Amino acid sequence: MPPLVVCLDLEGVLIPEVWIAFAEKTGIEALRRTTRDEPDYDVLMRGRLAILDDNGFRLSDIDEVIGTMEPLPGAKEFLDELRERAQLIILSDTFYQFAAPFMRQLGQPTLFCHELLTDENNRVTDYRLRLPDGKRKAVAALKNIGFRVHAAGDSYNDTTMLKEADRGILFRCPDNVAEEFPQFKRTDAYSELLPALLD
Ligand SMILES: [Mg+2]
Repeated sequence: MPPLVVCLDLEGVLIPEVWIAFAEKTGIEALRRTTRDEPDYDVLMRGRLAILDDNGFRLSDIDEVIGTMEPLPGAKEFLDELRERAQLIILSDTFYQFAAPFMRQLGQPTLFCHELLTDENNRVTDYRLRLPDGKRKAVAALKNIGFRVHAAGDSYNDTTMLKEADRGILFRCPDNVAEEFPQFKRTDAYSELLPALLD
């Protein structure tokens, strides 16, 4: 059998949603929308950037909130065990600027994600997708170079990756995603997810 690579989503699977934490800190309700609510990532991101602008927030304001956050309970232990038994790549629609503090806490796993663009005043001006539908394309590329891929995620932006993978698993997903994609096994605890990915 080809060697296994596990591909995992980041937010909602290993770390909390950064935008929700920022919404709580600032009290701006509209920032609570995530890929769980809005399937079109560009619509979601344009909305977020407009809110940041309207309120005069800078990247450093978001960094301040991220600095107080930690990975989800048990995430580090789960990853440590997983990485002893398979190669791991985290495929995320977050940004390197947001993810860096979490990656240090998670033992620096490999991460493919996107990039925020800022101006000289630290204002977030735009975002740069490395490539559209990047999660699915990464899985397709890994299969193309001889790997078997098992993947897990929690939202709409994971479903093309889960379909492309040899095995796709939902983890702590909302009911609407589970109902729309009944072909994927649904898991809620790391103790369930680990064997679902590996066995
Ligand atoms: Mg997620």
